[in-house]
Amino acid sequence: MKKKITDLLPGFVVGLAWIAGVPASDGATATNDWGNYPQGARVILENTVPLHDPLGDRLPLFLWPAHDAIVEDAGLQESIVRDLNARGVAVIASWQPGTDRARSLESGLQVGRIQKRLGLRVCVNANACMYGFYTGDPETAHLDGSGNPFFDDSLPGGKMGCPFRVKHRFDAVREQIAFFVEGYQKAGVAVDFVYGDWEIDGPLEVNRAWDSARRCVVCRQHIVRIDDYRVFQAAVRRARNDATRTCYAEPILKRFPNAMVGNYAVYPNDGHRYWFDYFETMHTDQPHRKEQKAVYREWPNDFSETGYTLAMPVIYPWARIHDWYQFPDSDVRWFHNMLLIASSAGRNTKAATPLVPFVHWQTVFDPDPANDRVRQMSERAYREMLWHSLLRGTDSFFMWCVAEQSAREVRLVHAAWAESLGWRDWLEKGEFLRFDSPVPGHPVVSAVRMNERVLVRRTDFNQDHPEPVEMVVAGQILRVARREGNQVLRIP
Ligand SMILES: [Zn+2]
Repeated sequence: MKKKITDLLPGFVVGLAWIAGVPASDGATATNDWGNYPQGARVILENTVPLHDPLGDRLPLFLWPAHDAIVEDAGLQESIVRDLNARGVAVIASWQPGTDRARSLESGLQVGRIQKRLGLRVCVNANACMYGFYTGDPETAHLDGSGNPFFDDSLPGGKMGCPFRVKHRFDAVREQIAFFVEGYQKAGVAVDFVYGDWEIDGPLEVNRAWDSARRCVVCRQHIVRIDDYRVFQAAVRRARNDATRTCYAEPILKRFPNAMVGNYAVYPNDGHRYWFDYFETMHTDQPHRKEQKAVYREWPNDFSETGYTLAMPVIYPWARIHDWYQFPDSDVRWFHNMLLIASSAGRNTKAATPLVPFVHWQTVFDPDPANDRVRQMSERAYREMLWHSLLRGTDSFFMWCVAEQSAREVRLVHAAWAESLGWRDWLEKGEFLRFDSPVPGHPVVSAVRMNERVLVRRTDFNQDHPEPVEMVVAGQILRVARREGNQVLRIP
């Protein structure tokens, strides 16, 4: 996710792609009554249809434009919540600290009360309350050998300081969260889903943070073996996790112990990071393994240190992925990378922890320049990626996009997700059997077992493998024929 919610609201202009001639789906009816809805709510309604299968115990779908579905009028607000809920889409309130926080609290409570009354989950974006550790104050800076403060200039913003000179900021950040959580508690409105996108703030080890730390006398005191990157990374991660656990996760969970609390890009994993965020740069002096030109960084599997109760991996077609691999079919490149992330998160996230990846379909060029050579991922490959993620443990999606992308992004992810509700018993009660990543270009198979039956999905990207894929389940060989869509096989 690149844009902060504060960048997008309230100047939220949605639907440019739709205006430019992308047809709305069947969900657009001539007689709708959405004229006075905010643009974000409208673009969702115009590009989705009401659910065919009930949501049941599944999580709702989280769509970026649903932040722009908050209004002052209570009656109108209820209509918006109801209309989006008919599509399975959650309305998300945003907590804004600062001088207007009382009004932000009231606005959140109004939609929260409606969601409670309708038996829906209360969903919140707490992003703005998570920031405030590195303020640019010299008291948070690294210190060189002469005692002069300095910041790490390898990250945007120029405020990234010392992981061990930030504790005095904890109270201020914790209070930002506590104000809203206490307000909700007092009003009897329990929050169910809280997420943020806390990225370039607080202790962080990426880019050239290691160089800054090695120049800092305080860091050298705290990390005796600082010249070992793994030791440095583990120490900085601990400091980062300590900050977000004590100032964000714990204040929420203390009052609402059943809440799902998570952050963009924080999730259980297999010890590697298969992607780079928009502000991250590649440095081969840090531990990694390579596949063609792709660099998979070693990454601590430290989810438990965060105290989070919600896993949020990031599965985007970043432009740089396209050139990492040499597979002739660009869909194979996108799919291969994205499946690695979905599988790493799916295999390592406990069943009790909801898994809600951030997803996106259109090539993310930031920070890379737009480039015609980078072929857009096909709609089919994206749909298959969403499906294989679901069949490897994903509980719902969080679709991020910029405003002009909304119509297409909403339509694709909603269609695949809504179809999956027809299989919700499998996805809720079944056993996920496969997290493997086949040789790129070979058939991809995911499988979920329920008793003596197995739900499988096979995806081929070429004509090279007409034969069935064999898999062993309960000691029996199952043959997965080449076919589009889901298949149900019986264990003989
Ligand atoms: Zn330092």
